[in-house]
Amino acid sequence: MSDIIIVGGGISGLLTAREFSIRGASVTLLERQSIGKEASWAGGGILSPLYPWRQNEAIAPLCIDSLARYPQLAETLYGDTGIDPQWTQSGLLILDNPDLAKAESWCQNHAIPYELADTPAIDRLAPGLDYSADNPLWLPNIAHIRNPRLLKALRADLEDRGVTLLEDHEVTALEKRDHRICRVQTPQGAFSADLILLTTGAWSGRLWSDLFPRLQITPVKGQMIVFEADPKLLQPMVLDHGRYLIPRRDGHILAGSTIEHSGFNKHTTQQARDELEQFACSLCPALRHYRIQKQWAGLRPGTPSGIPYIARHPTIENLGLNCGHFRNGLVMGPASAALIVDLMLGCPSSIPAEPYSFDTPH
Ligand SMILES: Cc1cc2nc3c(=O)[nH]c(=O)nc-3n(C[C@H](O)[C@H](O)[C@H](O)COP(=O)(O)OP(=O)(O)OC[C@H]3O[C@@H](n4cnc5c(N)ncnc54)[C@H](O)[C@@H]3O)c2cc1C
Repeated sequence: MSDIIIVGGGISGLLTAREFSIRGASVTLLERQSIGKEASWAGGGILSPLYPWRQNEAIAPLCIDSLARYPQLAETLYGDTGIDPQWTQSGLLILDNPDLAKAESWCQNHAIPYELADTPAIDRLAPGLDYSADNPLWLPNIAHIRNPRLLKALRADLEDRGVTLLEDHEVTALEKRDHRICRVQTPQGAFSADLILLTTGAWSGRLWSDLFPRLQITPVKGQMIVFEADPKLLQPMVLDHGRYLIPRRDGHILAGSTIEHSGFNKHTTQQARDELEQFACSLCPALRHYRIQKQWAGLRPGTPSGIPYIARHPTIENLGLNCGHFRNGLVMGPASAALIVDLMLGCPSSIPAEPYSFDTPH
């Protein structure tokens, strides 16, 4: 029997399993299909919220704390597993900032370096763009990570640490006795542990409604496309009117993303492909010469305010939840994992947990 059972093998589950393991706990992770194949695989890997000054300020501590953790995390995983998650500090160019004063104040308050980007600066940073800018801003320190590689590296790392990873193990019920979860049911059999943690992403809202009646998590579909472009076509990430381009190291350029409330359907659509292609090729006309290699969709675990739930259950003493990270699960991942492990183990945490509790409106 392990000390901890984690249900769900996305970025939240894998990072939390790693954090528990580092602190000496034995962990079993149960995943209903394959590890790291849902939202965490589908995301763009931008390690900043889009226009962070327009987000609920409650997520800022998790984002800022994670930013500091990522370089070391990526380097350690690469060193230990041989899989490079390609943490890349490409910088983020934001072309439309009608709320410039708010943006500057947010960057100053959180010590995020920024520069006002005039036309020569934009032409130097990202030659060949076709844009009409509104108070453009350059955030040189913002990075992206190649999330499928990060997930693979985390998986390899957990295997090396002796974490038990069980795929095709869907948790179908949590059995409660005396204010504790005594058994976790799967079609392959029952499991038990001292602590049970749910990291079930977009599925959390519908799976555990009897245990968490006020949980507000719904799936929000996002579609992306990727161009098979050449390295050096574009260096920084570029954000314009809510859509973005992310250049990978091999030259591939991702364009994203849609926001669709259509239940648990992950189908891609021609309309989304056309819209994303139109956005990408208008902003970076050279992309017209490159093939779209792939289109995909993922289900973000959406909450009304974008604030995740990172908390122990109010009455079931061995149960916790780390989910609902909506558009920022990669950004907030490392800090969220550290926080939930602190809460579950009863350790003091550097980040106040109150905004992420069940009692705080989301
Ligand atoms: C198109 C798109 C672009 C995005 N871009 C970014 C970005 O640039 N930066 C960023 O920070 N975030 C981004 N996101 C958001 C980010 O991907 C999510 O917030 C994050 O992946 C959520 O991680 P998770 O581990 O909670 O969920 P998931 O990755 O969905 O993992 C949940 C896991 O739980 C499993 N599960 C569910 N039910 C059960 C069960 N009963 N038993 C066992 N296992 C179960 C699922 O199979 C799944 O593997 C993007 C998302 C999308 C879709």
